[in-house]
Amino acid sequence: MSTPLVVMKFGGSSVAGAERIKRVARRIARERTAGSNLVVIVSAMGDTTDELLALAAAITDDPDPRELDVLLATGEHQSATLVSMALHSLGVAAISLTGPQAGITTDGTYGKARIAGIDPRRVNAELAAGKVVIVAGFQGMSTKGVAELEATATASDVHAAEITTLGRGGSDTTAVALAAQLRADRCQIFTDVKGIYTADPRIAPDARQLSVIGYEEMMELAHQGAQVMQVRAVELGWVNGVTIEVLSSFEDAPGTLIKEDALVEQRNKVRGLAHDRNVAKITLVGVPDRPGVANHVFGPLADAGVIVDMIVQNVGHGGSTDISFTIPRVELAKAKRLLDPLVRELGFVDMTTDSSVAKVSIVGAGIQNAPGYAARMFGTLAEAGINIEMISTSEIRITTIIAEDRVEEAVRALHAAFSLEQPEAVEAAAAG
Ligand code: ADP
Ligand code: ASP
Ligand code: MG
Repeated sequence: MSTPLVVMKFGGSSVAGAERIKRVARRIARERTAGSNLVVIVSAMGDTTDELLALAAAITDDPDPRELDVLLATGEHQSATLVSMALHSLGVAAISLTGPQAGITTDGTYGKARIAGIDPRRVNAELAAGKVVIVAGFQGMSTKGVAELEATATASDVHAAEITTLGRGGSDTTAVALAAQLRADRCQIFTDVKGIYTADPRIAPDARQLSVIGYEEMMELAHQGAQVMQVRAVELGWVNGVTIEVLSSFEDAPGTLIKEDALVEQRNKVRGLAHDRNVAKITLVGVPDRPGVANHVFGPLADAGVIVDMIVQNVGHGGSTDISFTIPRVELAKAKRLLDPLVRELGFVDMTTDSSVAKVSIVGAGIQNAPGYAARMFGTLAEAGINIEMISTSEIRITTIIAEDRVEEAVRALHAAFSLEQPEAVEAAAAG
């Protein structure tokens, strides 16, 4: 039998400081001694990425995206080298590689690049040489120029290949992409909680750990703010059929499997809740009610890579209407810059913004088969005196926009209203 290949990813809190890095190294060494080949992906230590962002912000309001990505990528370089050194001192052969050295190529979208491909030759060569390969997560190199390098390399091609980062939480995506490319036997995401819970355990004390969750439900939860897994990572796992294990790096305990969920058909229930504070609401007041206006508003936002989430357009009155929509709060300044000129150009009455809102969502494949979930969700929020500002739905999700300062209360009330602390009947039966 060939040697199993295990991909292990350690998040920021798992490598925050020398002691934790040494502990992670001991865990890796144990797995290595058990006989697996290992590719280990690491995030930047603790809050390093936030600190680097703050440092750039202290220098300029408008950092150059290319320089910012080079800066942010250094966070992961630090932890990768330190984990490698910690392994060396345990007598384990190891080498750290940056994302580009690991053959990860991306498109050229700084700050949220998508992986375009992985050339696994270097990683495979290091594995064949008996080393544990530590890969700096969250980064790659833009393919511009790279594809042609072998055949037609010129100096300008070489300069066109740039370091990119994969968006916040992007080390998860590095891990799943490498697991898929290398056809790893296991893909383990080690973090600071024991697995995926019915809600963020930091704010819902009754949140219950799930043993399994389907890709689709996990994607919705991640998309709606459960930062425990990056959305792209779940999507890549789904497309490539990679079973993802989420587990604690601090204790030996069973984690949660993200995979095709065979029980989903039998369920008729809300699976989990997610909340997201990275939300801002923009309202365009008195927008002329004529064809093409929405295109003028959303076109420039799309071109600038601003992701518009919920959109509500009121019924028009007297030739004008109001349009409200949400975007990530971190992109509010950019969106305002793009939309300000349109107020005059298109003849809006006003543009207002609100960055004190948050999203709360219920997610579950059962939602599509049974009525009554929306009523229960809205009723629960009403009983708590929480005003709903916007609503959106998908087949397996209902999302509300509420005031940010009520979000924790809303999550706890909804968790109780849907009895999420109770194990599901099908799960209990499956467990015997
Ligand atoms: P890492 O640094 O390991 O990548 P993250 O901070 O990105 O860790 O993600 C782990 C955090 O995600 C947890 O500490 C938890 O507060 C949060 N979280 C939000 N929703 C959930 C959920 N449904 N299940 C588990 N954790 C969640
Ligand atoms: N260090 C990056 C971040 O903080 C990537 C990651 O942790 O996955 O977002
Ligand atoms: Mg993370």
